[in-house]
Amino acid sequence: MRVVVVGAAGRMGVAVRAALQDWPGSKLVGAIDREANAQEGITTDLESVLAEANVMIDFSSAATTAKNLSACARHGVAALVGTTGLDSEALAAANAAAAKVPVIVAANTSLGVTLLLELVRAAAGALPADFDIEIIEGHHRHKKDAPSGTALALGRAAAAGRGQTLDSTMADDRRGESARRAGEIGFAVVRGGDIVGDHTVLFAGAGERVAISHQATDRAIFARGALQAAFWLLGRAPGRYEMSEVIGFKSIT
Ligand code: NAD
Repeated sequence: MRVVVVGAAGRMGVAVRAALQDWPGSKLVGAIDREANAQEGITTDLESVLAEANVMIDFSSAATTAKNLSACARHGVAALVGTTGLDSEALAAANAAAAKVPVIVAANTSLGVTLLLELVRAAAGALPADFDIEIIEGHHRHKKDAPSGTALALGRAAAAGRGQTLDSTMADDRRGESARRAGEIGFAVVRGGDIVGDHTVLFAGAGERVAISHQATDRAIFARGALQAAFWLLGRAPGRYEMSEVIGFKSIT
């Protein structure tokens, strides 16, 4: 695997480059960021390194994703985009690139969270509708957005398991006096300390509860999952793929 990392100087870029050192048969052929850093081997021109690569791993900025995907398509390089907050232009670029190369766009590259999403979708489809679904998430004190993108993805998976959308089922703010609406999906948010990322989906029925949880303790899980996905992409036909295909488990509902 000959990898170009975009966003190489960032937190995830550093984690991916570190994980790459332990990945047998892999080689870093380009480390790209906004500013060059000779000591770190970081350069700024993606086009000039893609000829040597067979996969790009992008954890940079949503503003540059469309351009990076077009470059991959031109050079026949597979693309794993972990960058979040992509707009419609970036998503359209992912679809356009997928006509030429294999592409995964994944807001969470943890293999554990990928499994969690599928388990939640299956559980929501299997359990009767009177099991109330609540999502509890915790992150470090610096996190700005709430609920987390992963919590919202879990909400979408739970709603999809019930044949619904999160837009129509997400609970409103529960402060003050408000009883639970039947069928709503509630969110509870914890912020504190250095929590990397905890997510629990609770299915609360009358007389029993099922809880499905994931705890991240190390950012390296996103890097290892990204490498696993990048490796999985090699040799695939052009097209859009999902992390669930990387782990080989897709719930049927
Ligand atoms: P970061 O700010 O530490 O790193 C981003 C890096 O990208 C920086 O070094 C920045 O200089 C670089 N960059 C920005 N614009 C660029 C451009 N035009 N060309 C080249 N490099 C550019 O952020 P981070 O924590 O590493 O996260 C990066 C992205 O990955 C974010 O969108 C974040 O939400 C996402 N993320 C995804 C997952 C996942 O599992 N998919 C996990 C963690 C973070």
